[in-house]
Amino acid sequence: MTLAVCVQCGESKVGAFTPCARCGLDPAAHGTDRELQAKSLLLTDRFHPGGALEALGRKLRAGELVSFDAEQLAQLVEELKTQKLPIVSKTPAGCSIIGWALMGLMVTLAVGLLWMWRSGGP
Ligand SMILES: [Zn+2]
Repeated sequence: MTLAVCVQCGESKVGAFTPCARCGLDPAAHGTDRELQAKSLLLTDRFHPGGALEALGRKLRAGELVSFDAEQLAQLVEELKTQKLPIVSKTPAGCSIIGWALMGLMVTLAVGLLWMWRSGGP
């Protein structure tokens, strides 16, 4: 369980990519907005253990800007782009279908090659 705060309004929530109950910001719905997702990840107890996260949430709720570590942010954006980080919840169903279709194609090819090799052999 990851404690997080909303990037937009500072409301506490559980999980970096869950929708915010207060302002409705849903980082997972912004599929290509990697920076928003990276910021959402940065605003979790994973990066701000103890009371640090709550303090950041208070700042955001007071309308203050929270500064992000540019290097950390860039690194997370990169990891999100290359999908090294499991983008929690919502994986588009199409992705896995294409994945399985490719897998099926590979198996079919392998079996076909094996059959051709066996029937063409001595
Ligand atoms: Zn919010």
